[in-house]
Amino acid sequence: MPIQIHDTLTGGKHELTPLRPGQVGLYACGPTVYDLSHLGHARCYVVWDVVVRHLRARGLAVKYVRNFTDVDDKIIKRAGERGEDPVALAARFADEFHRDMDALGCLRPDVEPRVSGHIPEIVALIAALVEKGFAYAPGNGDVYFSVRRFPEYGRLSGRNLDDLLAGARVAPGEAKRDPLDFALWKGAKPGEPRWPSPWGDGRPGWHIECSAMTRKHLGDTFDLHTGGKDLVFPHHTNEIAQSVCACGDGQHAESYARAWLHNGFVEIDDEKMSKSLGNFFTVRQVLERYEAEGLRLFLLGTHYRRDFNFSDTVLSEAERRLGYLYETLEKADRVAAGAAPAPAQGGKVPADGGAAPDGGLVERCRAALDDDFNTPQVLGLLAEAFTAANALCDLKGKKTPEQRERLAAFARDARRLGETRGLLQRAPGETLRALRDRAAGRRGLDTAAVEARLAERQAARKARDFARSDAIRDELLAQGVAIMDGPEGTSWKVL
Ligand SMILES: [Zn+2]
Repeated sequence: MPIQIHDTLTGGKHELTPLRPGQVGLYACGPTVYDLSHLGHARCYVVWDVVVRHLRARGLAVKYVRNFTDVDDKIIKRAGERGEDPVALAARFADEFHRDMDALGCLRPDVEPRVSGHIPEIVALIAALVEKGFAYAPGNGDVYFSVRRFPEYGRLSGRNLDDLLAGARVAPGEAKRDPLDFALWKGAKPGEPRWPSPWGDGRPGWHIECSAMTRKHLGDTFDLHTGGKDLVFPHHTNEIAQSVCACGDGQHAESYARAWLHNGFVEIDDEKMSKSLGNFFTVRQVLERYEAEGLRLFLLGTHYRRDFNFSDTVLSEAERRLGYLYETLEKADRVAAGAAPAPAQGGKVPADGGAAPDGGLVERCRAALDDDFNTPQVLGLLAEAFTAANALCDLKGKKTPEQRERLAAFARDARRLGETRGLLQRAPGETLRALRDRAAGRRGLDTAAVEARLAERQAARKARDFARSDAIRDELLAQGVAIMDGPEGTSWKVL
């Protein structure tokens, strides 16, 4: 079964057919590093991480390139406000970005090019465009791309030039021949970083960097280009125009990236996330309150092409689901090893243990990811398998060797499946305690105080003072803390 992808360029699903058999070149537009990364970054880079992991798991040699935009208006402005060098400020926030993405379990790309390290390549690409007549230097230090020279300009966004023209303006100080034209090179302004060029000192426009970096690290034509859907126009549209005209066939968008994947927006409580609305969250703010793996599970619960809605309620729910997955894994490990299972907590146990964990789980999850990286479907399949495994663990009586083997196989498959999604790789006990402490923190509960009350209850039970032991149990329950007495001692969780 081949891998199917939804390609923005063709507007439909088609088979991924690598340019070079067995190899995939993938480029993701990276962050503009002038501040801490936010939930929108977490969303798209977790998604591309799963895409890369899955393609690799399918035996493809993926070269994953993601840039850092470290020369840009926003960076220059921020650096000016702080009296810092722009490239140094960007380097600092690139390090912060790495910290966040590492915390989210995203693999580092193979190459992470920066604008400041690719100026000669950028200048060479612009020079090629000028030479071929696709770009012009009006003499004020700027260089512009001549949009009307490229017939497929509106193809990626599915809009024609007149529609695009309606929104185009010539800003003061620009010397464009046509309002649609865009800057490839910007003449130096006082206080801005500058590099020499045939058109005078200056710096690159935003779009040209990706064309120069893909060319250097993936070649003139490569397989997959990814990014947020807000980048379709103008950024990706302009990338295509530059690359196709400078080093492609001058005609067809496919002579640059052969397919484009775009992810949806992040909304907060059904509104678009923005600083002005006051509903803006950095990754770090979220990770102060939630486990990174819970956030990751939550992000993968929505198909990458759809917009997704973030709220505390749904994120808490994702953490609860993660807790259930780890509880089940812990239980399956214990039962598979032949130890006595903990008694079931309230739930009814079907006589036959419910559906058995399915041996075809790995294959079905693979098929779901092959179908345009359908992560929500994978999570659904995992949920079914975990429910079945849980029911099997909870079956009364001693497990047969066959049942124990099924649980061992389940735990193995679950961890293997988790690996290609960046989930379920931690020790269950430790993770469950971390999740519990997070939930306690959000409730304003003091973990140490709960533990102290539990110790008092243990002492009361030892002294056979059951009235006192029950009173402590009820008191904790009223605070939302449930106590579980099991063969391995007493544990607690936040309800
Ligand atoms: Zn880009």
